[in-house]
Amino acid sequence: MSPAKAASRKDARADHRDIDGRALAAEINAVTAAEAAGLSEAGWVPRLVSVTIGDSAPVELYIRNQARSAAKAGVAFDERRFPAESTRAELLAAIATMNSDPRVTGIIVQRPVPDHLSIKELQRAVHPLKDVEGMHPASIGNIVYNDIELGPCTAMASVELLKRTGLKLEGLEVVVIGHSEIVGKPIAFLLMAEGATVTVCHHMTRSLAVHSRRADAVFVAVGKPRLISGDMIKPGAALIDIGINQVDGPDGKPLTVGDADYESCREVAGWITPVPGGVGPVTVAILMRNTLIALRRQKAHYEDEFAGNG
Ligand code: NAD
Repeated sequence: MSPAKAASRKDARADHRDIDGRALAAEINAVTAAEAAGLSEAGWVPRLVSVTIGDSAPVELYIRNQARSAAKAGVAFDERRFPAESTRAELLAAIATMNSDPRVTGIIVQRPVPDHLSIKELQRAVHPLKDVEGMHPASIGNIVYNDIELGPCTAMASVELLKRTGLKLEGLEVVVIGHSEIVGKPIAFLLMAEGATVTVCHHMTRSLAVHSRRADAVFVAVGKPRLISGDMIKPGAALIDIGINQVDGPDGKPLTVGDADYESCREVAGWITPVPGGVGPVTVAILMRNTLIALRRQKAHYEDEFAGNG
């Protein structure tokens, strides 16, 4: 390594900061809880309903985290469990009932669902006013039109973590690696709405490092451990790692890691999100914040109808 490169790496290291997702999640939950208390007092209780179909160990973990975050954010959390063999018609009917129940603020359909069901169809059945996951085509449409208050939770969380660095998003050179509907694409739309210059890379992108090396901020959401190494990052850049992968740890026990090789990337990056403890907890806090935004919108909707404007 050249002395100049070594010096710039040292500078980057001196400036290095982990972005603490747990601290940011606690801040978001505190703001949500304050608003939830005010609305609850006025008779508008935020209530999130979790729909689980069948049994799955990862889903049990998500539900536990969501229930814990809901308690901190002042959101009531109801679990509705359906057997794995539930039919499409039964589930659509159950969602329709929740859509018309004024006590239900938001509905989250836990993934994965059994193979005979389509998660997209179930998400589309949730009324857009109760779509706290931000995954309904209407919600996705809103972010394309620069209405970014309520968006897909993981994408919103990732952008919040970047904002935490204090970097100005207008004109920021950002590379998003991964272009799924649930993460990569919405991140790109949210960032464009904030004025960033966005390049989206995916499995067919040639020379990934050529793109990632010129970015002021890199988002990676692929699902491949150690896809991004330190030599693929510009010194001082922000790295938001969304990946969640299970690998064998040094002691043979399973270890959760992101898509970045954390050790080599933290040597170079100005900011980096750890896995776990980065995007994950903020995603759940955004789900609670979305529930409050949905409640506010429903309140406005009902009041408008009551006033005879509906
Ligand atoms: P996906 O499988 O739907 O999409 C993967 C994306 O990576 C695709 O766009 C694909 O083109 C791209 N890709 C594949 N190989 C590539 C390569 N070699 N170079 C560049 N791009 C490549 O995955 P997803 O649902 O978007 O999830 C991605 C990761 O994010 C997973 O690890 C998942 O567990 C994680 N995730 C985390 C959260 C969270 O809250 N932290 C939420 C959702 C997903």
